[in-house]
Amino acid sequence: MKDPGLTLDDVSAAYGKTPVLRGIDLAVDRGELLVVLGPSGAGKSTVLRVVAGLEPVTAGRIHIAGRDVTADRPGRRNVSMVFQSYALFPHLTVADNIAFGLEVRDTPRAVARERARAAAETVGCAALLDRRPGQLSGGERQRVALARALAREPEVFLLDEPLSNLDLALRTEMRTELRALHDRLGATMVHVTHDQTEALVLADRIAVLRDGRIEQVGTPDAIWRTPASAFVARFVGSPAMNLLPAAGPFAPSGTAPPGLAGAGELQIGFRPGAVTLGPADGAADGVAAVVDRLEVVGEDAYAYLTTDGGQPVVVRVPADRRPARGAAVRATVRWADVHVFHAGSGLRYPPS
Ligand code: ADP
Repeated sequence: MKDPGLTLDDVSAAYGKTPVLRGIDLAVDRGELLVVLGPSGAGKSTVLRVVAGLEPVTAGRIHIAGRDVTADRPGRRNVSMVFQSYALFPHLTVADNIAFGLEVRDTPRAVARERARAAAETVGCAALLDRRPGQLSGGERQRVALARALAREPEVFLLDEPLSNLDLALRTEMRTELRALHDRLGATMVHVTHDQTEALVLADRIAVLRDGRIEQVGTPDAIWRTPASAFVARFVGSPAMNLLPAAGPFAPSGTAPPGLAGAGELQIGFRPGAVTLGPADGAADGVAAVVDRLEVVGEDAYAYLTTDGGQPVVVRVPADRRPARGAAVRATVRWADVHVFHAGSGLRYPPS
């Protein structure tokens, strides 16, 4: 077992009578960057808030670096949180903003100043120390918020959608920087996002959250290749994985997994890139379909088909080999590229 940086054991939380977290089990290794991914309202921020001590748990225990902090007030937990809104004081300079958290903890002013300068240096905002937040761009404010978290030298960093207020180019750049910063510091980080690309790029492991429950925890590769449920399969990947009734007219080619018949009602899933398009009078496998709509995104094109059985299927093809709108085609997919899920529970079949 690796060194535990942070563990949540069967943690539940509620706002009033409404349950928000329902038995969360999560172990983040020391030095790991874990991304909590899920749709809006899934409870991602609440996970961070219970770890920080900003919300109480209704059940379960939280340990930070092996110490039970469940009953500790926020100031004693040794975590730093970075918010989407940055939460900088507008009337303080960057230097004072970064040093603020240290000075309220009785760190001598000169020491706080030096740590603030060093933190600013680390995240590349040392030239801004005398400015006020109003004189900074969004990206610069984000750096200051990170520097403030860093200066406190916490056991765990909690990052709540820290990149989502930035424009796409900056978000992509800061994402890479954040990962580099993590690797340089060897810090334990929990990063919350609803952006699946951000999760795939940043994470050592991803925890997918849905309705206050963890649906799957795994490396980005595992989440992509062996999604534990239809929900995970469709949440990660854009356009989303196609999902059709296994008993429908879409027959994948090759050998079906053993035991498929008799396993109850199943669905098959396959990513848009797993489908091959051919002429309508082609192979016996697959299904006849018509191209309803095309989206061309640089080198890729997405063809939105309706099958003969009336089912929608999205296909990714190279833009220079895309079919025409309205074309009759035949879509095939190999069993090797098919994921199978139980229709009712949505769980992967067979479970991996
Ligand atoms: P996420 O970060 O995944 O978007 P949150 O953790 O912010 O989700 O919220 C989870 C659920 O709790 C949502 O349904 C949200 O409406 C509700 N919620 C969040 N904060 C409060 C609050 N202060 N009071 C009541 N309900 C809240």
